[in-house]
Amino acid sequence: MTATTHPCRLCHAPLSSADAVQIGPFPKAAQYYPTPNEFTHDRGIVLKITECPDCGLTQLLNEPVDYYRQVITAASLSPVVREQRLTLFRQLRGYFGMRPSAFEIGCAGGENLPLLRDAGFAASGIEFAATTAGTSLPEGVTDTYLLDLGPENHGRHDLLLSFNYLEHQPDAHAFLQKCHALLADDGRLLLTVPNLDLLLDSQSAHEFVADHLLYFTAESLETALRLTGFSLIECQIINNQYDIQIIAKKRPRGAIASSKSALDALVISFNEKLRTLATEGKRIAIWGAGHRTLALLSLAEYHLIDCIIDSARFKHDKFAPISHLRIRPPEILLDPDCGIDVILVMLPGIYPKEVISRIESLPIAYHAEQFPPTE
Ligand SMILES: [Zn+2]
Repeated sequence: MTATTHPCRLCHAPLSSADAVQIGPFPKAAQYYPTPNEFTHDRGIVLKITECPDCGLTQLLNEPVDYYRQVITAASLSPVVREQRLTLFRQLRGYFGMRPSAFEIGCAGGENLPLLRDAGFAASGIEFAATTAGTSLPEGVTDTYLLDLGPENHGRHDLLLSFNYLEHQPDAHAFLQKCHALLADDGRLLLTVPNLDLLLDSQSAHEFVADHLLYFTAESLETALRLTGFSLIECQIINNQYDIQIIAKKRPRGAIASSKSALDALVISFNEKLRTLATEGKRIAIWGAGHRTLALLSLAEYHLIDCIIDSARFKHDKFAPISHLRIRPPEILLDPDCGIDVILVMLPGIYPKEVISRIESLPIAYHAEQFPPTE
């Protein structure tokens, strides 16, 4: 058999079928019950199971079963599960303000929605082909598939829930990315999936099933969340080790943009300082030719500066990039005709204090101060 290559269902790294463990024949789907006239063709399938060497996600290389978009549940919620879920939903309700929106992905017959409403959420959900049974849709349930939801749904939900549905999906990345898009910025994602560690620890390879394309450990689930813009809040192993339950939130973005704004503000205050001193007729030197200072100088009104002073010998008499200010040794301050009145000390850490006292102990009086004033 020739080897085939498949993109990882999470990180898209190439996975070769030659590296997969093959088990079979297995039933071709969990929901397949052959009729007598199908017996001759029912030879089952060989599951090709592999662990992505990059992201660590264990997965089947097989095609999904034809009903993977649908949640097939055998029964309604047991009283124990109902009680557990209600407690969990009430706990999650505490994160939000007025009447938050909860949205269940793969909600079957909408059994969780009344519980979510009891807990104080405005609850709705989606289920693919929910109407095929010939019954009308339960309140709040829409017949659609997650990846078919358009951008008009983005950012609208405070709580997204999905119980043991992600493991059926051919593309974990697309699924979680869509969850990320649907969630409000300060929303929460509640997800459960079967626990691969239990399958492995209990040596139960017959637990692999054609319906489940993805097999998560707590670790690979966290990786999947991280790769799709989430950060984990809480991870629990539940249901006698059978399932992993996580609560995650969107990873805040914009830290770099905010650090750029802070730099813009620093440049403004630096320029104000330079202009004030220049207006007073002061001639200005900058102490420090480190990369941060040189970068800041390149953004500032450097024509108001006379020179740069630095104690590193290898920098002496070189020129700063962009500003082309000359870098001078500290000894120039011993010359009463050096043409400097004010020294702005722009060094990191504990050095500014040391340098300022060094300047103040010189036989010639200069005004020295640290810039920015507190660092
Ligand atoms: Zn991968």
